[in-house]
Amino acid sequence: MTDTDRAAVSLDDLPLRDDLRGLQPYGAPQAPLPVALNVNENTHPVPDAVADEILDDIAVALQQVNRYPDREFTTLRASFAEYLGHGLDAQNMWAGNGSNEVLQHILQAFAGPGRTVFGFAPTYSMYPLLAQGTGARWAAGERQPDYTITAEDAAAQVAAADPDVVLLCTPNNPTGTPLGIDVVEAVYEAARGVVVVDEAYQEFAPREAPSALSLLEGRPRLAVSRTMSKAFAFAGARVGYLAADPVFIDALRLVRLPYHLSGLTQAAAVAALRNAPTMLAMVDEIVGQRERISATLEALGYAPHESWTNFVLFGGVSDPAATWRALYERGVLIRDVGIPGHLRVTAGTEAETTAFLDALASIGSAS
Ligand SMILES: *Cc1c(COP(=O)(O)O)cnc(C)c1O
Repeated sequence: MTDTDRAAVSLDDLPLRDDLRGLQPYGAPQAPLPVALNVNENTHPVPDAVADEILDDIAVALQQVNRYPDREFTTLRASFAEYLGHGLDAQNMWAGNGSNEVLQHILQAFAGPGRTVFGFAPTYSMYPLLAQGTGARWAAGERQPDYTITAEDAAAQVAAADPDVVLLCTPNNPTGTPLGIDVVEAVYEAARGVVVVDEAYQEFAPREAPSALSLLEGRPRLAVSRTMSKAFAFAGARVGYLAADPVFIDALRLVRLPYHLSGLTQAAAVAALRNAPTMLAMVDEIVGQRERISATLEALGYAPHESWTNFVLFGGVSDPAATWRALYERGVLIRDVGIPGHLRVTAGTEAETTAFLDALASIGSAS
């Protein structure tokens, strides 16, 4: 094909699905800046000792890479069950290439054309896109001005919307807000469809905070998703997982591609989970930096929201786009999540956090 041919063809010339016409591919900007605090990664590398063990196990898996991997990833599912506790075992577990794929499996099985997916906005920006990808309709519920939701209000909104899938993100991205498990219980009672609790940031919540995992028993329409992308510092490996009733897992088997999790991914994740305490050793340090960010932002005149995650959403920014750009020019990448007067920053290492706070102080854009 010549360059002229290439230029002549546009997406409009292809027989694309009507509901995808005019859309742009989604993704946060990936810019090679020295301080990248825009996508809530764990900015600490995998500890050397664990990295060596992961490499050894990948080497073993590589010897069998001519064969398809275990389609049921049984060892990995048992490892996740052991990590989560709560009386779960391998048959309660599911996994995918990131929890985004796990959520996609859920929507492929329980949403789709003519069905509705519901969440309380503002929430994870991928939810509407995942819904759209399966041809389902996204319906947004509302939160209080401080982004909290009461059990009563949540249940009433869910009952009114009558969705096929409810996605509850707790602690919530992009706001950091925790959701009480009384809210999950009330939403489950009010819902006819499945209820998914996305606990991507649970490891950064206070230790004593209950997880929705404690509600799984006797609730077959409930699922709790987690990821290794955040606390486990494993974003590049792409591993997310879910706990639910074994029957719920059977529904996901109907839509997954056979062998969707590569043998190398399975080996890497099992080795990482075997070393969970070491992998999670930086969580307390990150929580410390998050608290430092909140305190400093307040002193600078901004309005940080309470966060149980590894990031802070802060208001009081007079011109978010201009502040984002000024930080970018100082080598610091954060996130403009589209909430008026707000920006979101991930808690990095102490040095990265200092770089962000110093750069922001030098801009002075509090309104
Ligand atoms: C980061 C994040 C995920 C994780 O996505 P992966 O596909 O596992 O990397 C899931 N849910 C929320 C709310 C997130 O912020």
